[in-house]
Amino acid sequence: MKLDTVELVIDLKSLSRGINRGVFIIPLDKVEWNIEDLEPSESKGTLELMVDYGDDAVLCSGWFDAQFQTPCARCLEPVSFSISEEIYREYTWSPDPASDEQREVIPQSGKLDIFAAVQEAVLLSIPGKPLCSPDCAGICYN
Ligand SMILES: [Zn+2]
Repeated sequence: MKLDTVELVIDLKSLSRGINRGVFIIPLDKVEWNIEDLEPSESKGTLELMVDYGDDAVLCSGWFDAQFQTPCARCLEPVSFSISEEIYREYTWSPDPASDEQREVIPQSGKLDIFAAVQEAVLLSIPGKPLCSPDCAGICYN
């Protein structure tokens, strides 16, 4: 299985029928995350993927582990946090309009874009009120 680790795109042609497994090192600082106030605090993350290439659908599941940072809600110093989230996407060649299954259509190019799934995992992991330390006094006391 081939994954473009910067664009986070799987090439369907690199998959064999049935279950495909792979563990990929993601160069976190090269990926365009497009999330406000957020950047990787380590240059590498890990994406573990299992892709089931079937006749009418491709099921992509996996696990994303990485370290990111976001400003402290009080003093704006960067706060590092870990991400360890499951990702899941279903793709199909011909979606059934009568079905309410959330399946994405596989493009002609055969490139499965899993960026949104990984970005979602990052978004889900951002702490609600990040603090550099529980007793951070805030910006006025620095
Ligand atoms: Zn702080």
